[in-house]
Amino acid sequence: MATIVHVDMDAFFAAIEQLDNAEYRNKPLIIGGAKDATRGVVSTCSYEARKYGVHSAMPLKKAVKLCPNGIFIPGRMPRYQEVSKQIHELFNKFSPLVESVSIDEAFIDMTGCEHFYSSIEAIGQTIKSEITSKTGLTCSVGIAPNKFLAKLASEWKKPNGLTIIRSQQIDEFLISLPVEKLWGVGSKTKQVLKQHKIDTVSDLRQHSLKWLKDNLGEKFGQHLYNLARGIDNRRVEPYSEVKSISQEITFEYDRDNQDFLKSQMALMAEEVGCRLRKQQLYARTITIKVRFSDFRTITRSKTLDYAVSDDDSIFNTGWKLFLTIPTAPIRLLGIGTSNLSYNQQLSLFENTGETNKLAQVMDQINQKYHNKLVTKGRTLPNE
Ligand SMILES: [Mg+2]
Repeated sequence: MATIVHVDMDAFFAAIEQLDNAEYRNKPLIIGGAKDATRGVVSTCSYEARKYGVHSAMPLKKAVKLCPNGIFIPGRMPRYQEVSKQIHELFNKFSPLVESVSIDEAFIDMTGCEHFYSSIEAIGQTIKSEITSKTGLTCSVGIAPNKFLAKLASEWKKPNGLTIIRSQQIDEFLISLPVEKLWGVGSKTKQVLKQHKIDTVSDLRQHSLKWLKDNLGEKFGQHLYNLARGIDNRRVEPYSEVKSISQEITFEYDRDNQDFLKSQMALMAEEVGCRLRKQQLYARTITIKVRFSDFRTITRSKTLDYAVSDDDSIFNTGWKLFLTIPTAPIRLLGIGTSNLSYNQQLSLFENTGETNKLAQVMDQINQKYHNKLVTKGRTLPNE
């Protein structure tokens, strides 16, 4: 039986601000932008702000309405990154198998390390107390036989929680769980399930594997069947540093039709953007690669002032670079991103929140249908 730990910092950005600024403590604090910001979304808010109904990803305007006396600040990403680095260094002391999920979250595979501790609780308590003594912040920890259950456990009691799901308790935790708590169930799937009167895991279990596959698709049906029973075979995959994400295509024959090349670049930009977002990465440098019919290959790069992961920014930057090179028949076209980080720069909170949201929605839809049903107009073949 595996021992998987999921650690999630409590209200991470807000907690750091409250730690650093005494005047923010015990107050509703909202990170994401100034009070008079016309756009942008809430990045994180303090537990005091959550009492007013404010939550992450909510438009700032709405947050101001709900919590007019709240303290609204744009945030300090470099500081959050610094603390993120500290906690990740700490995780690596516990096990070499650490998978970073986001700036404030990680899975730690502690399988085989159990005998170093007096109990499973002691593993969680040790991690929690070391994080607090190193950073002054609290976290919530979940420990379970797999990733899905470990994440469920860390969410069970927040803030400052420690929840353990042992194999004999799996049913107890799962049975009354609403279906949207299952990984991969978005609002669309939720609606489909609702039509069949499936609201909870217990309802889901009334249906056979065949029924789930017939109604939700072969892969997704199996996936939900497994999760409803607490089965998740995903392994903790240690983060190996990704240096760049790129995509290129070699044409069967030389191409010089600009509309065609543009549509190809748009498709590749969507692919690259999707891969970035899947890993929660952001890129500052966009590079294009062009090989001419005589096999001469050139690259052109642009480093932006802020990090991006949305298709539009990647494509627009790439296409602008493309327009700077002389027109000639092309054998290969590529677009790539580098200078990657886990965090977007602050400017992004206000500037491209919307674009990123759109990109995320498209990713979800694309994943659900396992292919490219939804692409923007410009990627429709033009030739
Ligand atoms: Mg968190």
